[in-house]
Amino acid sequence: MRRVCILGSTGSIGQSTLDVIARHADRMSVHALSAHSRMEQLAQQALACRAEVVVVPDDAGRRRFLAAWPAGRKPPEIRVGPQALAETAADPASDTVMAAIVGAAGLPGALAAARAGKRVLLANKEALVAAGAVFMRAVREHGAELLPIDSEHNAIFQCLPAVGRAGAPQGPARGVTRLVLTASGGPFRDRYWSDLAGILPEQACKHPNWSMGRKISVDSATMVNKGLEVIEAHWLFAMPPERIEVLIHPQSVVHSMVQYEDGSVLAQLGLPDMRTPIAYGLGFPERLDSGVGPLDLALCGRLDFERPDPRRFPCLELAFAALRGGQGACIALNAANEVAVARFLDRRLPYTAISRVLEEALAWQAGRASATLDTLEDVLALDGAVRAQAAQAAGLHAAA
Ligand code: NAD
Ligand code: MG
Repeated sequence: MRRVCILGSTGSIGQSTLDVIARHADRMSVHALSAHSRMEQLAQQALACRAEVVVVPDDAGRRRFLAAWPAGRKPPEIRVGPQALAETAADPASDTVMAAIVGAAGLPGALAAARAGKRVLLANKEALVAAGAVFMRAVREHGAELLPIDSEHNAIFQCLPAVGRAGAPQGPARGVTRLVLTASGGPFRDRYWSDLAGILPEQACKHPNWSMGRKISVDSATMVNKGLEVIEAHWLFAMPPERIEVLIHPQSVVHSMVQYEDGSVLAQLGLPDMRTPIAYGLGFPERLDSGVGPLDLALCGRLDFERPDPRRFPCLELAFAALRGGQGACIALNAANEVAVARFLDRRLPYTAISRVLEEALAWQAGRASATLDTLEDVLALDGAVRAQAAQAAGLHAAA
C-alpha cells in the first residue's frame, strides 16, 4: 500500500493527484495534505480522502480549517508552519511525496522528502531551478526515487533507457544525443513581445490547451516556463544545455522527445491532462488508469512543430543564459520571475516589464561576488536578496 503526502493539495496538480489516488483505493492512500490559503477546500479534501494529517501555514489557518470541519467528526492532526511542512514531508508514515507547491517555497519540503529517501514525485520545477545541485545530491546520497511529473520531463523519462533513470544520473544516458522539449507557445504564440504591453492577467492565464495554476499559466505565456523546464531537464537528466532543444508544438499532444545516436526519436503522446504523468509517477513501474481518455490521432489530424522565435519569447533566451551562467544566475532568474509574475497578476506591473525585471536581476547577480551555494541556507539567502532587488526594479517599471 503506497502512503502519499501531497504538498500543495489545493492546487491544480494537488487536485489531480487526489483524483488519481481516489481511483486506486486498493493500492494507495493519503497520509498528509498541505495548503497555504484555501482552508475550506483543504478541509473538504481531508474529509474526502481521510487524511490523517494536514499542514496549514499559521494559527489563523488552523482556526479556519477547524471552522470548516464538520461538527461531530474527529479532525485530522493539524500541523502548523513551514518547519512542520518539511517534517511532514520527511515523516516515515508516508513513502511517497507529491511536491506540488508552486515556487521556491516548495523547495524545503521537496528536499526534506529527498533526504528521507522517499519516492519524490516532483511537479515543483522551481525547486530544481533554484537548487539543482543541492537537490540532486540529496537524491543521490539518500537513495530517493525521483520521478518527474512536469509533463515534458515525464515524457522524456518514459522515452529514456530504463537503466538508472529513476534517481540522480551522473551523466547523460548512453546513446542519447538530444532532449527535445515541446511547448504549446501559450496564448500569444503568434504575436511579437513588443506588441504585448497591454496584456491583462486574465488574457495571460487563458492557456489554449492546459488548465493550470495562475503562476505557471503566466510563465507559459512568456515561455519562461519552458526556460525553467530546460534547466529542470539539465538537472534531472544530467544533460548539457547545448543538447536540450525547444520546439513549439501548438497541439500539446507530443509531450517531449528523446533523440538517439542511431537516428531514432522516441516521443510520448497523450491528451494534455496532468493525471497521465501523475498516475505514471504513482504507479511506476506499473501503468494505472488515470481517468484520462484515449488519444485519437485521426481526430487531431495534424501535429505541427516550429522553432521558437526570440522576438516573441525573450524570457526563454534569458533562461538559457541563466543556465549557462550557473546556479546563482538560475536562482536570480527564478526569484525575479516569481516577484515579477506576482506583481503582474496584481496588476502592478505591465506584462512586457516581466522580461526587464529578469534581465536586470541577471545583470545584478552577475555583478556580485560569487557566493557558495552548497546548502539550502545558501540558496535561500541568495533567493531572498534577489527578491528584494527585483521588487525594487519592478517598482520602477510600474511607475514608468
Ligand atoms: P497552484 O497555484 O494551482 O497550486 C499551488 C499549491 O501550492 C496550492 O496548494 C497552494 O496552497 C500551495 N502554496 C502556494 N504558496 C505556498 C507557500 N508559500 N507555502 C506553502 N504552500 C504554498 O499551482 P499548480 O499549477 O498546481 O503548480 C504547482 C507546481 O507544479 C508548480 O511548481 C508548477 O510549475 C508545477 N507544474 C504544474 C503543472 C500544472 O498543470 N498545473 C504542470 C507542470 C508543472
Ligand atoms: Mg511542463
